[in-house]
Amino acid sequence: MLQPIDMKKKQDKQPEAAPAVQPVQSAKPGIETVKQVRAPQLVKGMKDILPVDQPYWMHIKALIGRMMDDYSFGRIDMPIVEDTSLFLHGLGKQTDIVEKEMYTFVDQGGNNLSLRPELTASFVRSYLEHGMLTWPQPVKLYAVGPAYRHDKPQEGRYRQFYQWSCEVIGEAKAAADAQLILIAYKFYTSLGLSPIMHINSIGCQVCRPAYREALTEYYKNKRSQICEDCKRRLTRNVMRLLDCKEQTCQEIKAKSPHMDEYRCDDCKNHFMSVLEYVDDFDIPYEYNHYLVRGLDYYSRTVFEFYIPRGDDEEMNMLAIGGGGRYDQLVELFGGMPTPAVGFAVGIERVILKLKEMQTAGEEIPIVQQRKIDIFIAQLGERAKRRMMVLYEELLKEGFAMAEAFTKDSLRAQLDLANKLGVKFTVILGEKELIDGTIIIRNMEGGEQEVIDSTKLIPTLRKKLDAWSQKTTS
Ligand code: AMP
Repeated sequence: MLQPIDMKKKQDKQPEAAPAVQPVQSAKPGIETVKQVRAPQLVKGMKDILPVDQPYWMHIKALIGRMMDDYSFGRIDMPIVEDTSLFLHGLGKQTDIVEKEMYTFVDQGGNNLSLRPELTASFVRSYLEHGMLTWPQPVKLYAVGPAYRHDKPQEGRYRQFYQWSCEVIGEAKAAADAQLILIAYKFYTSLGLSPIMHINSIGCQVCRPAYREALTEYYKNKRSQICEDCKRRLTRNVMRLLDCKEQTCQEIKAKSPHMDEYRCDDCKNHFMSVLEYVDDFDIPYEYNHYLVRGLDYYSRTVFEFYIPRGDDEEMNMLAIGGGGRYDQLVELFGGMPTPAVGFAVGIERVILKLKEMQTAGEEIPIVQQRKIDIFIAQLGERAKRRMMVLYEELLKEGFAMAEAFTKDSLRAQLDLANKLGVKFTVILGEKELIDGTIIIRNMEGGEQEVIDSTKLIPTLRKKLDAWSQKTTS
């Protein structure tokens, strides 16, 4: 008999705060207990890519694969863990990434390792290690994978993020720079994005020292007027002062000497040639004297793609990719002098922008997850066993299907079929099993047809054809 609820007793009792760690459940003899621990949490700055986001990723990865085939780039997958020295020497000890953002650790064998903060240095390591110098030059490679930077996380800035990195190693000509710029631009525009490219040429070993000297000279007596970061960089990496976003530094930066006055003839011609190609391709760009990019390995061409975000288009430019030449990097690691150029696209940021456009009602060319056409439902144990076999047969025939073999109630199965938006549900119960028949339910109108079970496949095909004709006409 139901006991009446004692309201007074209930009110008197104050709810207790749930303990952070659940107590060990009382043990019954002979039964193992679960010792609960604190619920695991995502590491700050990391992201799970949930099924709902997979269509974006799959679409983008497929697009990259197709484009890379079109331009004869070979795919390479490299480990995310590398020797720390690869980045110390490759990217430069005094770069922000190496100084502040690397995930570095010593492994059980005493090796100093790092999670890669970018992929270019790994390409060069791989190029050297696998003797790619003997392959037909240039070697055109690409990779898609995560990189790690211990930066301040915020929307569009993560500690693990995916880059599509694309490199041409063994080619000095401007056509290589231009082709990479074109590939990146085509990638963005085929996704419906309209980026603007900033481009600069930061010179080479011949002309850059004089420019560095001029910059140092210019900033020398302005030390007290610049931000702390710039003061620090003044002696270590003066070109990074051009990168500074601090308000206090802008006026001084605006009057600083330009690289134009220092570029040697070879660099001038190379840069002009890149810009001519870019003009031919109709790629919108801005010549940005201040673009230097954050890593030591760059030389000559540097470029970055931006898209406006949010309401205030002027103030909120999001960098969705960038790259440039790194003509000395192979040599730095002991290889022959080998010019190279590459770019990296930040995939999360591209998806962020695509979603923003979608929210604003714009059409974006993302193929949604495969539509399911047919649901398989069953009533009773024997029917379930038959349907589990039938499911495999229909899969082999190429039907896009779903099932819920763990559910017994037909209502629950039909509810799920409705939620998935399937066109037809195939139903088998005890009676149909005995009769050798099977039911096809049209999920749109709910009408059902009983057919000979041996005719299921051609009947389904016919119904799906009629459906697609109806929807396309
Ligand atoms: P970078 O070589 O630093 O210019 O990186 C190339 C591209 O990767 C950038 O243009 C961004 O789109 C993307 N990216 C860089 N850092 C992050 C980050 N912390 N989180 C998300 N995307 C990033």
